[in-house]
Amino acid sequence: MKPRVGFAGLGIMGKLMAANIAKAGYEVAVYNRTRPKPQDAPGMTVAETPKQLAKDNDVLVIMVTGPQAVDDLVWGENGMGGSLGPGKVIINMSTVSPAYCADLNKKIAATGATLVDAPVSGSKVPAQMGTLVILAGGPKKTVDELEPLFLTMGKQVVHCGQAPQGTMMKMAINLLLANFMCSLAEMINFGQAGGLTMDAMLEVVLGGPMSCELYKIKEPLMRKAEYTPQFPLKHMHKDLKFVLDTAVALNCPAPSVFTNLQLFSQGMAKGLGELDFAAVKQVLESMA
Ligand code: NAP
Repeated sequence: MKPRVGFAGLGIMGKLMAANIAKAGYEVAVYNRTRPKPQDAPGMTVAETPKQLAKDNDVLVIMVTGPQAVDDLVWGENGMGGSLGPGKVIINMSTVSPAYCADLNKKIAATGATLVDAPVSGSKVPAQMGTLVILAGGPKKTVDELEPLFLTMGKQVVHCGQAPQGTMMKMAINLLLANFMCSLAEMINFGQAGGLTMDAMLEVVLGGPMSCELYKIKEPLMRKAEYTPQFPLKHMHKDLKFVLDTAVALNCPAPSVFTNLQLFSQGMAKGLGELDFAAVKQVLESMA
């Protein structure tokens, strides 16, 4: 039998993911800090508080900005924490740091509930298409039981180990993602400085062995220099800070993370945080 799902956080990603769960026939209730517009939660019940959401549903999905937002939802006034206990499962799909996730895991286990950390690889378009890759950490049995639910939002579930290993995988994939995006922006900026056109360079990249889905999705934004957010720059800035903290804690070399974090920090300083992270191209332009 399909569990009733409580979904908290209807931002760029959450509203598309909740809609895909509902389309697959699950009964879905939602909570968002700012009351959702009816079109953001079609056919779904709206809970008044996170506590009510957690009381009425056994499987609780969280997709919010980061640690502070998760804390507010779970441990804040009228938070989910007041309704947690044995049989309840919290799936945190928000990107947080492994250290935060490990702590959250302990606190949730103390209530008798279970945490699955399940951040995602993929942005707005895969969220809409239901083709995200789910990076799951938690008890294997629970992750296996949740697989049909995950597959309403994604095309693949990778069990990475116990929590916070889903989050550790997310750190690793976002380290790579930042490099892909920053390298393309740097390449185009470099070529333009030498007199090449963006059109010619994108034709070469997309026609050759270095083409990838990411570049196909970001190409129109870069051509028009209109960075409507799919993955906001402020989120990549947040995530690279987590990656850096994790690398330092592990004594692991991560030289690109220092450089890329500088670029996204400059993006924040220039007020580009709400734009898509492909706007790192604008940061490089402004440094010329
Ligand atoms: P978003 O559009 O910025 O939405 C953020 C959500 O968090 C909103 O629902 C917001 O509620 C809620 N929120 C923020 N602070 C809160 C607080 N203190 N208490 C309760 N709710 C709070 O973010 P998004 O792009 O959907 O991303 C969500 C998560 O997924 C982030 O961790 C991000 O790093 C990760 N992620 C994003 C992408 C992407 O491409 N966008 C891809 C992979 C992973 P309000 O509506 O009230 O502001």
